[in-house]
Amino acid sequence: MTAPATDAPHRPDGLPDRIRHYIDGHEVDSIGGETFEVLDPVTNQTYLTAAAGQQADVDAAVAAARRAFVDGPWPRMLPRERSRVLHRIADLVESRDARLAELESFDSGLPITQALGQARRAAENFRFFADLVVAQSDDTFKVPGRQINYVNRKPIGVAGLITPWNTPFMLESWKLAPALATGNTVVLKPAEFTPLSASLWAGIFAEAGVPAGVFNLVNGLGEEAGDALVKHPDVPLISFTGESGTGEVIFANAAPHLKGLSMELGGKSPAVVFADADLDAAIDATIFGVFSLNGERCTAGSRILVERSVYDEFVERYAAQARRVVVGHPHDPDTEVGALVHPEHFEKVMGYVELGRSEGRLVAGGGRPEGFPTGNFVAPTVFADVAPDARIFQEEIFGPVVAITPFDTEAEAVELANAVRYGLAAYVWTNDLKRAHNVSQSIEAGMVWLNSNNVRDLRTPFGGVKASGLGHEGGYRSIDFYTDQQAVHITL
Ligand code: NAD
Repeated sequence: MTAPATDAPHRPDGLPDRIRHYIDGHEVDSIGGETFEVLDPVTNQTYLTAAAGQQADVDAAVAAARRAFVDGPWPRMLPRERSRVLHRIADLVESRDARLAELESFDSGLPITQALGQARRAAENFRFFADLVVAQSDDTFKVPGRQINYVNRKPIGVAGLITPWNTPFMLESWKLAPALATGNTVVLKPAEFTPLSASLWAGIFAEAGVPAGVFNLVNGLGEEAGDALVKHPDVPLISFTGESGTGEVIFANAAPHLKGLSMELGGKSPAVVFADADLDAAIDATIFGVFSLNGERCTAGSRILVERSVYDEFVERYAAQARRVVVGHPHDPDTEVGALVHPEHFEKVMGYVELGRSEGRLVAGGGRPEGFPTGNFVAPTVFADVAPDARIFQEEIFGPVVAITPFDTEAEAVELANAVRYGLAAYVWTNDLKRAHNVSQSIEAGMVWLNSNNVRDLRTPFGGVKASGLGHEGGYRSIDFYTDQQAVHITL
């Protein structure tokens, strides 16, 4: 379904026409004056220019962060004091959620209702880590009569945070909150397609009482600003979220410095539907799983594996429901799929849609939705009968496109689920308790949801296996990543 396309493109009031870096408590241009252009995904027109950080800008940001780490109060504050600041950040994010959502939706093309949900998740990430650092107790180990050993956790230094353009503000918060809660100082390099919402952090942090130099932001291209951050000798750890190919480059560039790395990378996650599943619930959830957030979601269930005895019924009902998903302008509250982030990404997704016509049976969508002759709009697209060696089965499309494949046995379902290079998430639908647990155990994925949508519990590990990542964050694992753990041994 498509919403009326006659609206004039929405443009939020008070948009800046220029975005700068934020270094040592000040907004600054690039030292050499370099900029890049940012488009909105509905008109694909440039609506602002952003400072394009180069090596010298990254050097300045890292130097400020280093000074704040070595001389400033932040790493030395009690966890409770930092926690109070983080709660104020969460309050401010919540109080600005509507504006954040408006800007995020305009800049990224996400449906406004979903952008609002992501703004609230960002606030929750700050609350969660604010509470966790206060609740945390240090490990102690006793050898009766001989030794007491305990663990000191220490912030590491300047954390380099590199983030993607999908749900950008929320994903930035997922790194900023634990990095800051544990007493590090940071340099954030947000994605170049979507710098708008990130430009709000500076004001939020300053108002919440984060000292100057603790939070720094350098805009720019990955190959320039991101590269300089990864290679900077005074940045001992990099938390990266993005494509697996970029992760490989960063891994190699960080190697000479032996940096701490956390990598949350791409996915091609399976949803496995057995014949005994609650099909109504499975269809609703697998529709949501790949079409929410425009399909631009790392954990999207973009391959659906369905047991053959219910396959035809599933495909027919799924396709019918996919055709009812409302494509519309991102700012329209009825919209369920908005505009893809950028014309380059649109072309990539449309390339897969074309390819899918020869690799599968098109049962829904297949191109631009009716009524949207311009802008990065793609109709929710469903291919059935997709073979496991098809590129649309193997490769991350990162858009509203799904491949459905039949299976006959539990063993075949697991084999198909594991037959890709990725291993981020998996979804399993069955009412057989034993099978649910056994299949989950056998699937190569960092996270499995059983009879459930992708619902996060921030205490659990988040991360992927195989080409989907390195290391896990979430709960105490994030605290582990952002701290050194020093063992102190006392002989009695
Ligand atoms: P991307 O890899 O193109 O870019 C991510 C970030 O890395 C951007 O800020 C970019 O500027 C920067 N970058 C690019 N090249 C760099 C380099 N050589 N050195 C340093 N930085 C560099 O990814 P994207 O297209 O922005 O995001 C989409 C991808 O992110 C998808 O593959 C998606 O699955 C993945 N993702 C994963 C998770 C997860 O948690 N596993 C979450 C969200 C997105």
